[in-house]
Amino acid sequence: MWIVFECPSCHGQNVTEVGGETIALRCSACEWERPVAEEHRAASEPADCVVCGCGDLWRQKDFPQRLGILMVGTGALVSTIFWWYMMPAWAIGVLLLFALLDGVLYTLMPDVLVCYRCHARHRHTPLNGRHERFSLETHERYRQEEIRLEEMGRKPEIRNSNSEV
Ligand SMILES: [Zn+2]
Ligand SMILES: [Zn+2]
Repeated sequence: MWIVFECPSCHGQNVTEVGGETIALRCSACEWERPVAEEHRAASEPADCVVCGCGDLWRQKDFPQRLGILMVGTGALVSTIFWWYMMPAWAIGVLLLFALLDGVLYTLMPDVLVCYRCHARHRHTPLNGRHERFSLETHERYRQEEIRLEEMGRKPEIRNSNSEV
């Protein structure tokens, strides 16, 4: 599988392939690395995040949002041109065609697993229904956790700056 993740240390974006031989996940920009569990090297659906070990992952279509918007935009534009030339059947036809194409592409796209905690994307991994689709409740839980951690991380910084003054 392929892992798209943000390095926990330097926050650089990384794309790494994890296969049968991958012992550790490494950042391309800094020294950060994390050993890859044997279970993650096997070609099966991972139970937890390869980057942070979080057990909550959600399934999402690997469909680039920009492509979807671009397609809807193009359909609307072409349709408007037909309206302008007073060809309503063509205008509606074009809209329907683009909506259909959008739907077909969406269905054909494979799923990715996204980590609730670190947002790492696990691509090209076999899926056997281990993980559910996006849950707002779980997302909220992790968002709150992140805010708490950030607040905790900031406090010592404030103390340090005070002592320097
Ligand atoms: Zn890094
Ligand atoms: Zn994670």
